[in-house]
Amino acid sequence: MNRFTENWTPLLLQWYDKHKRDLPWRTESPRDPYKVWVSEIMLQQTRVEAVKAYYINWMEHFPDIPSLAAAEEDEVVRQWQGLGYYSRARNLHTAVREVMETYGGKIPETREEIRKLKGIGDYTAGAILSMAYGKRETAVDGNVLRVFARIYNIGENILSAKVKKEITELVKARQDAARPGDFNEALMDLGATVCIPGQPRCDVCPLADVCLAKKAGKETEIPLRVTKKEVPVEPVTVFVVRAGEFYLLHRRPSKGLLAGMWEFPNCVGEGEQGKEALTADLSAIGVRAEEVSGPVKQIRHVFSHKIWNMNIYEAEAAGTHEKESSPEAGCALTKSAVEPEAVLPSGWRWVSATELTDYNMAGPHNRILRDMNELTTK
Ligand code: SF4
Repeated sequence: MNRFTENWTPLLLQWYDKHKRDLPWRTESPRDPYKVWVSEIMLQQTRVEAVKAYYINWMEHFPDIPSLAAAEEDEVVRQWQGLGYYSRARNLHTAVREVMETYGGKIPETREEIRKLKGIGDYTAGAILSMAYGKRETAVDGNVLRVFARIYNIGENILSAKVKKEITELVKARQDAARPGDFNEALMDLGATVCIPGQPRCDVCPLADVCLAKKAGKETEIPLRVTKKEVPVEPVTVFVVRAGEFYLLHRRPSKGLLAGMWEFPNCVGEGEQGKEALTADLSAIGVRAEEVSGPVKQIRHVFSHKIWNMNIYEAEAAGTHEKESSPEAGCALTKSAVEPEAVLPSGWRWVSATELTDYNMAGPHNRILRDMNELTTK
C-alpha cells in the first residue's frame, strides 16, 4: 500500500468510540444542525473549555432558530459577551433570519446554499452537513491540516493553497462513508487531545503504526507554517470617569471593530501624552476630567490584526457637585447634567453604577468593569 491508499479510518473511529470528548453540543442523536452551527461558530478562535458555559447559556436563551431570529441584536450581543469577536454573533443572527425567510426555518442541506449564509465558511458548512445531515462532506481546519500533514509526512507549508487542496483530497479519500460526521469529529478530537501542536502524544495515538511523520522521526517538525506577520501594538489610554454615582460611557461606531459596543473614554496614546490627549477630547464634549490617577490597571488585549496595550486611569469629573450649570467655569457638567444624554453629544452617556452591567461593553472594557465590580464587592 502507498501513502494514499492505506486505510486507517477504522482505527481512528474505534479510538473515537472509546475516547470521544463529552461536550454539551454532542448530547443529541441525531444532531440538531442549529446546535452544530452555534457550537462551531463559538469554537472559532475560542477554546473548547471556554465555550461550554457560553453554549449552555446560549441554548437557554435561544434554543432554536425561531427564538434567535426573533431576538433583538442587543440581546444577542449581550449573550455573546465575553466570547469576543462579536461579528460572529451578528453574522449568526443575520444568517438565522435568512434561514427563516428563505428556507422556512430549515438550514439548507447543500454546501452551495449553506455557504451563502453570512459567517459560514467551508469548514462550518462541512461540519453542519456531515454531523447533522450525515453528508459525506469534509471539514478541514488547522487541526486537520496538522494531523494529516503528520500522518502523510507532508513537509510543505500547510497554509499554502496547494497543500490545503492536497490534504482536503486525502480527507475525502479517508472519510468513512457511513459515519462522515463521526470521522470529522474524530479528527477534531485527535488533533485536540493527541496529535496536539508542538509535542504530539504519539505514545497514545491510535495511528502511531501508520503515521509517516512518526516513522521518519519528524512528528515535532511537522507541520510547517509560514510565520505570521507581526501584528501592530497600539497604546491606548483609558479614563474611568466618575461623577458621583455615574460613569461616563461612549458607544463605538456602528461599523468596524467592536461595532456598537460601549466603552470607557479612551484614545490612542500613552503616558502624559495619552492623558493630555484624552483630557482634551473630554473637554471638547464638556467634561472636565480632574484628579486623574493611575494607571490603576494595565490590560493587553489581542485582536487578530492588532494588540491594544491599555493603561487605565481613574478620574473625577469636575463640576459634579455643583447645583447649577456654570458655563464661565468652562464645564457644562453639573448635577442636572448627570442624566443620560442630557448635555452630552450623541453616543455619550452617564450611566449609574448599578446600570453599568446592562450595557454591552466592548471586550477589554468589560474586563475593566468586571474588575471594578470585584473591587466594590470585596
Ligand atoms: S503518531 Fe504522533 S504525529 Fe502521528 S498522528 Fe499520531 S500523534 Fe500525530
